[in-house]
Amino acid sequence: GFKSRVSVIGSGSWGSVAAKLVAFNTLNLSSFHDEVKMWVFEETLQSGEKLTDAINRTNENVKYLPGIKLGKNVIADPDLDNAVKDANMLVFVTPHQFIDNICKSLVGKVRSDAEAISLIKGMEVKIEGACLISTYISEQLGINCSVLMGANLANEIAEEKFSEATVGYRNNREIAEQWVQLFTTPYFMVTPVQDVEGVELCGTLKNVVAIAAGFVDGLDMGNNTKAAIIRFGLREMREFCKLLFSSVKDDTFFESCGVADVITTCFGGRNTKVAEAFARNGGKRSFDELEAEMLQGQKLQGVTTGREVYEVLRHRGLLELFPLFATVHEICSGCLPPSAIVIYSEKKNIFP
Ligand code: NAD
Ligand code: 13P
Repeated sequence: GFKSRVSVIGSGSWGSVAAKLVAFNTLNLSSFHDEVKMWVFEETLQSGEKLTDAINRTNENVKYLPGIKLGKNVIADPDLDNAVKDANMLVFVTPHQFIDNICKSLVGKVRSDAEAISLIKGMEVKIEGACLISTYISEQLGINCSVLMGANLANEIAEEKFSEATVGYRNNREIAEQWVQLFTTPYFMVTPVQDVEGVELCGTLKNVVAIAAGFVDGLDMGNNTKAAIIRFGLREMREFCKLLFSSVKDDTFFESCGVADVITTCFGGRNTKVAEAFARNGGKRSFDELEAEMLQGQKLQGVTTGREVYEVLRHRGLLELFPLFATVHEICSGCLPPSAIVIYSEKKNIFP
């Protein structure tokens, strides 16, 4: 019978864990070819070895996920066209700032019957307005695209600690079930939800809330303040989602992609850690500088997403209705000091 072939596009920390999860299942399920190709944005390590060669030699992503075996059936490939050419299931998992170029170079290169899933937490903002990454992939490549989001710090899942995630799908439940099957392991529980926009926007917007939470940490404001910021943030996430898509369901915010992802990112995520350092330095060292120093090649999404959200809100004349999102961007861009994050809550608390 027909066997599905899976390729993973991206090999950062979450990309590598995604390849590990998928590879465990393709090996054990008869409806999949064992091999999982993982596209690597090639770089040369300090040792002089190419990252791809190091991954294929050690079966570990020595730079982005050291110490974790990916599974012998994961094959790293630096050639994007070659990595996708036979696959009918495409897993997109790169930092969102690179997806534009990746999609453009993939036009005409993927199978026309391929299904995609995006694990990317971010959005594309065009002049016409916000565009979900899943929609962008779908439109550029002419294929359907689901999403997988959740409370998923990569390093914890890499160590096989239990967590869960949400698959957001448009209308084909069978496709959603295939993705659930491909990602589910004894330590990774996946639930399908028919609300692709809600699931994806939750995963995207929580990174802006995570920046705000990091400012609170850096100002040593304590847990109550952080909880308040998280609550304001969730409320703005819901309002922003409904502004863009009236179809978004309230229940989605109670799935892993919603409140659970906000919590885990605000307590253990990179966005929060770097925002904490930004506030501790009084906003005097830029996010770019701190990211390069603290993350060694890993990428933040929250600052960019914050700017993109700000552009959408400004374009629509709605900044005043989203004081937390607006303030995060104004702090990140140096217009306000980090302490403005809490002045916000006294002065501009608008939603009932
Ligand atoms: P990462 O931040 O760990 O690594 C950065 C990646 O970007 C590396 O693979 C690097 O090779 C690649 N890269 C650098 N320059 C590039 C270029 N010009 N073109 C293409 N690729 C380039 O990556 P990640 O954590 O796997 O993040 C991917 C997505 O997954 C993001 O949207 C992130 O929000 C999301 N996510 C991450 C985690 C996590 O815990 N790391 C968890 C859930 C979701
Ligand atoms: P950070 O990118 O802030 O580390 O968040 C990871 C994540 O998305 C956890 O679900």
